[in-house]
Amino acid sequence: MNDADARGKCAACKYQNKRCDENCPFAPFFPSNKVDEFDKVIRLFSIDFLKDMLNSVTANEEKAKMVETLILEAKIRSENPVYGSIAVTEKLNLEIEKTQKELDLIQKTIAFYKELGGRSSLNKKNEEISTSGKQSLQDVKKARVDSNDNDET
Ligand SMILES: [Zn+2]
Repeated sequence: MNDADARGKCAACKYQNKRCDENCPFAPFFPSNKVDEFDKVIRLFSIDFLKDMLNSVTANEEKAKMVETLILEAKIRSENPVYGSIAVTEKLNLEIEKTQKELDLIQKTIAFYKELGGRSSLNKKNEEISTSGKQSLQDVKKARVDSNDNDET
């Protein structure tokens, strides 16, 4: 019993009603449990196109990646018959845009609170001066006004 017999006909050979041997170009990428994926791919691309695509690359990893991409494209196209993957791209772009706006808002909020924190620590310093120093209340108030003025510039 060879490998092909052990795993059963691949999805492509099942579809074509062919004998699946160890030289089958589809078997490594469309095993018998990928009938549904294969069906979607050839509905979109045709079996000849798929064969040409598989022959266009030599490395098995590249073939696997390519098949993965074709399966994904076919799956998306079956879910979005009109716009296909463009619909997905568009949706993701909108999400990126929305997230970017949220990020901008968060960064502005952080900057606001940092500035606020900086000011309140400055006020604390002034209070320390007023409790420990010999300065009059009038001087402290003046110092606060001055420091606030300096802060604005
Ligand atoms: Zn096969």
